[in-house]
Amino acid sequence: MASGLYRWGSIFKSKYRRRLEAAPRPSYKRPEIMAEKDRIIIVGGGPVGYTAALNLAHYGIPFLLLEEGDEIFEDPRAGTVHPPTLEMFNNLGVTETMLGRGYIVRNYHYRDRKQGLIAEFDLGVLADDTPYPFRLMLEQHKISHILADKLSEYGDHQVLNGHRVTEVRQNGGNVTVTAQTSGGIETFEARYVIGCDGGRSNVRKSMDVGFEGFSFEERFLVLTTPFEFADHGYALTNYIADPEEWCALFKVKGPDDKGIWRILFPTKPEETEDEIFDDDVIERRMQGFHAKPEAYDIAHRNLYQVHQRVAGSYRAGKILIAGDAAHVNNPLGGMGMNFGFHDAFNLTEKLAAIWLDSADEALLDRYDRQRRTVASEYLQRQTIENKKNIEQDNPAERAKFLDDLRAIIADPEKQRVYLRRAAMIEGVARAASIT
Ligand SMILES: Cc1cc2nc3c(=O)[nH]c(=O)nc-3n(C[C@H](O)[C@H](O)[C@H](O)COP(=O)(O)OP(=O)(O)OC[C@H]3O[C@@H](n4cnc5c(N)ncnc54)[C@H](O)[C@@H]3O)c2cc1C
Repeated sequence: MASGLYRWGSIFKSKYRRRLEAAPRPSYKRPEIMAEKDRIIIVGGGPVGYTAALNLAHYGIPFLLLEEGDEIFEDPRAGTVHPPTLEMFNNLGVTETMLGRGYIVRNYHYRDRKQGLIAEFDLGVLADDTPYPFRLMLEQHKISHILADKLSEYGDHQVLNGHRVTEVRQNGGNVTVTAQTSGGIETFEARYVIGCDGGRSNVRKSMDVGFEGFSFEERFLVLTTPFEFADHGYALTNYIADPEEWCALFKVKGPDDKGIWRILFPTKPEETEDEIFDDDVIERRMQGFHAKPEAYDIAHRNLYQVHQRVAGSYRAGKILIAGDAAHVNNPLGGMGMNFGFHDAFNLTEKLAAIWLDSADEALLDRYDRQRRTVASEYLQRQTIENKKNIEQDNPAERAKFLDDLRAIIADPEKQRVYLRRAAMIEGVARAASIT
């Protein structure tokens, strides 16, 4: 296996579990800061879990966060942060830090592998819609670290790593959470539980709701290289259409802040993992995309199974879900994590109204209505459409789509309408309109 190679999913998880079983039990200090039940439990310390945590801390609501891993995962997944997300995080005082850690991308490219540049979008046309008329390229684990650092400024909470939640049960007016640790089973009680435990969510499974949708047959390959594509006319974000091998190309700052490029390719369903990860196959793929005399230096190679699914409900009594636990989608458009952030803000604001102002718990049904409706109407529709367009193999449909893009960038008002949707402003507004 090439160095730096790991795969999100079964291989990574089973390796982690072996580590968890083998590791000596860490000695967690558990300060007596709250009555055992008088708190909210967040399951999952990914970007969405930490967002829920920081907003609860901001409102002064006690919580306990239970995370399976020993630390924040660093696999290369989300890297795009959209304007409404930056607005929401600004209320928590972390947006400036985020802006300082990533790349601000005002212009991005839609390209065709044979025809080259089709449309250069200018997010500046959103200047009247948002104080942040750009995308921020910042890796998701860095966002989680920024949120976790900010959290350390607040009291009244605990974060317990090495706790894999296996079951969540309603218990009279409270909820009981069972977790597996290296030292055995532990149980915890709370008034509410928020499941932010990702696509395979045990919290969602405990709620016994469906996760309807479909999975793509092909897996998505992400390669990471330091080769400087900006010297060859590429923007820091590029979507590149092709009926045989579309791709998406982004620059993020990377581990040493010097800048690294990620390129996302589809693979064929029948290709084995060994074939996909073979050095010669990868080199041919990269040279086929952009030929150069020297071989590519590939820092990481990751393979992802991709799904389009939405949970049947985001609420079962006092148990709620947010982020990938509630919906999953393909990464084209960079929306999944952002959408999860919007869930977390929406939900924790409602919980704060209930906790602090005795608002009716029916508000939590509104969370479900708002966020689940928009996940289906907007997130699923938009990301499925993004994939359909980038891989379109009908020549007439392809030509029409590319002509439409050219027409959109030629007209600032059309571009604004298009970018309000692509930049997720429309989705947030639509959710707010649902009573
Ligand atoms: C290649 C790729 C590129 C992407 N790019 C983008 C992008 O640019 N923009 C975007 O918005 N989205 C993007 N996404 C989607 C994004 O990565 C996810 O939407 C995001 O990670 C969801 O965050 P989350 O916190 O809900 O879940 P996760 O990131 O999956 O975090 C879940 C956390 O819960 C923990 N956990 C799981 N089970 C348990 C348990 N039983 N008990 C305790 N803890 C548990 C896990 O260890 C993990 O820390 C991309 C995805 C992929 C695959």
